[in-house]
Amino acid sequence: MRRSIATVSLSGTLEEKLRAAAAAGFDGVEVFENDLIASPMPPREVRGLAESLGLSIDLYQPFRDFEGVDDARLERNLQRAEAKFELMLELGVDTLLVCSNALESAIGDDARAAAQLHRLAETAAPFGVRIAYEALAWGRQVNDYAHSWRIVAEADHPLLGICLDSFHILSKGSDPAGIRDIPGEKIFFLQLADAPHMAMDVLQWSRHYRCFPGQGGFDLTAFTGHVLAAGYTGPLSLEVFNDVFRASDPQRTAADALRSLSVLEDALSREQDGAGETAAPTGARPTVALTRLPDPVEPTGYAFVEVAAEESSAERVRAALAALGFEHTRGHRSKPVQLWEHGTTRILLNSADPRLGHTWSGDAAATALGIAVTDPDGAVHRAERLLAPPLPRRRDPSESRLHAVAAPDGTAVFFCPAGTAEGDSWLGDFTAPAVQGHRQGSATPLTGIDHVGLFQPFDHFDEASLFYRSVLGLEPAESLQLAAPDGLVRSRALTRPDVALRIALNVSVLGRGPQADAAGGAQHIALGCSDIFAAAQAMNEGGVAPLRIPDNYYADLASRTDLSPATREHMREYGILYDRAGDGEFFHFYTPMLGGRLFFEVVQRRGGYDGYGAANTPFRMAAQRAEQAQ
Ligand code: MG
Ligand code: MG
Repeated sequence: MRRSIATVSLSGTLEEKLRAAAAAGFDGVEVFENDLIASPMPPREVRGLAESLGLSIDLYQPFRDFEGVDDARLERNLQRAEAKFELMLELGVDTLLVCSNALESAIGDDARAAAQLHRLAETAAPFGVRIAYEALAWGRQVNDYAHSWRIVAEADHPLLGICLDSFHILSKGSDPAGIRDIPGEKIFFLQLADAPHMAMDVLQWSRHYRCFPGQGGFDLTAFTGHVLAAGYTGPLSLEVFNDVFRASDPQRTAADALRSLSVLEDALSREQDGAGETAAPTGARPTVALTRLPDPVEPTGYAFVEVAAEESSAERVRAALAALGFEHTRGHRSKPVQLWEHGTTRILLNSADPRLGHTWSGDAAATALGIAVTDPDGAVHRAERLLAPPLPRRRDPSESRLHAVAAPDGTAVFFCPAGTAEGDSWLGDFTAPAVQGHRQGSATPLTGIDHVGLFQPFDHFDEASLFYRSVLGLEPAESLQLAAPDGLVRSRALTRPDVALRIALNVSVLGRGPQADAAGGAQHIALGCSDIFAAAQAMNEGGVAPLRIPDNYYADLASRTDLSPATREHMREYGILYDRAGDGEFFHFYTPMLGGRLFFEVVQRRGGYDGYGAANTPFRMAAQRAEQAQ
């Protein structure tokens, strides 16, 4: 299918937007009127530039408040439209988006609206222009796609069709299945946007919070499936109004946008395969070619997490690992990298990462995630098709060849072969174990890496969630907003229900404060355990006191839980926090901050608890702030 993007989705001048769309690989654009008006380029020059970039101009938009007006107003509106048709000829675009009248004065009379849109199509005919009528979610009289289609059907003009916009339909909870009954050739245009679920005025929601498919909470796969089933063969076009995208690098946003369409098309194509045997042939419905990506990755968990630390902080990281029961078991054959193990849980400690102090500030940072996958070659192939930058890896001949790609925040994501036979082949990069056989020191009841928490760059939070969703097949949860001492933090977890692989992404809502970006925001590695009290005691006895939580927290716990006084006292002693959801319980504590931004967390899940103790995050952040102020 052809892929298109509205210029309003990208930052910059019209020229910068066109160049970014072309560089990402889009086939066409929707020109947003204000972008053209603001441009020093005359329409013919814009057309020439688009042509030279290999872009078609698929839509001119928006034309507002046309229909449902009195007769005198209609004549003025037709004159206004004619001026736009002339401009469109110069621009080389043949479809005009007309959105439903949002004025208070709009007249609720379908016959009048149909007759007026028929006049508009008649006026457009000599210019070779067609009209795509879109029901805005906040249209005064027409705000539902079924209603816009009834009017278009009644107007019955070959140059008049409808424009479907997923936001306007899904934001109102309308059932998109009815789209299947609209003749495909009368759907002149399709605009796609996702959005997080929010309870707010729909106009504000639309203008500020739209995002690319796969980044929000709407089911764009099902929605687009209905439109294709109707027989639509036009472009898939992204129209995304988003405060962050409007201000970020347009090239990067355009690449993120194209990735979202690849993921959407891939999902649609797999659904069509699945339906292929049962669905009756639909006869007249035209079929479209959809992008197909290599098969989704099947991760089986964390193979390792890599931490980089300057020598000053590396000492503290080593002390924390040792106190948690890890042992330094091996050294890398060619690099100053230590392997620390607890059972099959592995942390790499790199004391010579050149990116530290450049890509990452502070003295310590989590720099790489090793993900065990069933098919590493397939995983890297899929990641590259999703425009994830492959990372060059300095290798010595003896070293295993682990594939890695860069996540949006610069974190390296390694694909390690899962399974027993060759699953640990990357360990061949390391010297033989320093300690053979059964190791002491594994007394702490750790069970593995529960999750990794990474602060994200302000501009790339949505991009990151789509990256982990599409590259690792993780499912994003709804975003949460947490009131931290230095400002609001938005948090979103990604996981797979069947696999112990969880990532928590955080971002400063206003993009400010000491934790405002990927280079300086706090990161943590959370370790699962089967006995939180034993783990806390072992760490404490190992010489690392847990992060201290104020007594007020435990007074509050007493008022709202039935935890026994002895348990609460024990928790207070070790800074253990608590959360509950249904029958599930969550106990967790933290190490002190190591190197300014890195810390470890130890968690115990009971009774199927599936969250991250997010309600406690503000208290953790306040405690860290108090600790650093000392
Ligand atoms: Mg729209
Ligand atoms: Mg956590």
